[in-house]
Amino acid sequence: MKPLGPIPKGFEAIGGELAVGGKPVSALVEEAGSTPLFVYSRERLSQRVAELRAAMPERLGINYAVKANPYGPVLEHMATLVDGFDIASGGELEIVRKAGIDPAKVSFAGPGKRDEELQAAIAAGVTLNCESPGELDRTLDLAKRMGTTPRIAFRVNPSFEIKGSGMKMGGGAKPFGSDVDLVPEMIARALVNGAEWRGLHIFAGSQALSAEALVETQAKTLELAGKIAHAVGNPLPKLNMGGGFGIPYFPGDEPLDIAAIGSELGEKLAHLPAELGEAEFCIELGRYLVGEAGVYLTRIVDRKESHGTTYLVTDGGLHHQLAASGNFGTVVRRNYPVAIASKFTAEPEEEANVIGCLCTPLDRLADAAHLPRADVGDIVAVFCAGAYGATASPAQFLGQGPAAELLV
Ligand SMILES: *Cc1c(COP(=O)(O)O)cnc(C)c1O
Repeated sequence: MKPLGPIPKGFEAIGGELAVGGKPVSALVEEAGSTPLFVYSRERLSQRVAELRAAMPERLGINYAVKANPYGPVLEHMATLVDGFDIASGGELEIVRKAGIDPAKVSFAGPGKRDEELQAAIAAGVTLNCESPGELDRTLDLAKRMGTTPRIAFRVNPSFEIKGSGMKMGGGAKPFGSDVDLVPEMIARALVNGAEWRGLHIFAGSQALSAEALVETQAKTLELAGKIAHAVGNPLPKLNMGGGFGIPYFPGDEPLDIAAIGSELGEKLAHLPAELGEAEFCIELGRYLVGEAGVYLTRIVDRKESHGTTYLVTDGGLHHQLAASGNFGTVVRRNYPVAIASKFTAEPEEEANVIGCLCTPLDRLADAAHLPRADVGDIVAVFCAGAYGATASPAQFLGQGPAAELLV
């Protein structure tokens, strides 16, 4: 028997079934017309942002990192909740524009922006988080030819990273941002060329569950921003402090203590050095805002035994849930939170492996899980499916195609 990850709080049962947004899964599947599907809860999204706002200093803006979940209705709902949006491609620029989001609230990071993408972002008035001296040259050139003032922030490759974070994106040689010693000259060059300097972007990692590590990273981030602003000799207009707030996916993971982070940050923002005193501040979060609000539902199409092991074979799999299968940034495979959604309140009574429908041994949704007895037709829920699910999985693999999506 292997433990399952913790089911996020806020999910209820109706008539013994898992319910999302007040609807039991059988009704949700009927509404979508098929399985597999992703269901996102409007209420869970709103609640999450409200809790975060209550914990964070008022001065701190909250941005949504669109790549975590770019589904149109989710984005439109997030637009009513957050202060800004971070995108990472020209495609995401199109998506935020379709959702009716004001480009002035959007910043665009990413190490390989093409000229067409830079041009579209400059024309729209999006803030470009400049990743290198070469990208700055191209941006200034394009803006000059377009006769437009580009809005540029500078992404810094910090010399630190969040301790114990899931995905390291700072410290030492990195493809992201520019090394600290290059940045003051880049800012000066942007200013001389008439660009609007929109500040700094410092992102030091992802999926951290330790408040202590995040507090330490935020302190270092503020210190680094102060040093750079001092070297430039101009007050900093804005600091995007990155994010890295994680969610519990695996057995033993504990939720992040946001109250501790918020009170420490509140203290720091109340006692800023002069070069940071006028700055706007924001954090950018993806999975923390949307991850726990989503559930992936897939139907059991076969039940079989092999050498004494029970397999519940579903019509979903890693082509929609690469992360839950253990193949997206994890070294050792551990179980996500998984349940038999159509028998949500039933007691566990057997050990079973929940697998996907793909012809590969990698397609596992739960290993040796303790579950209620489930049969063909039952619906399995994989929780924590609101971020990096639908668009971070190889949906075209084996000709399967995408899953349906619903916001309820
Ligand atoms: C991916 C990414 C994020 C979002 O990360 P989460 O772990 O989903 O919060 C934020 N900022 C940058 C620069 C990113 O690349």
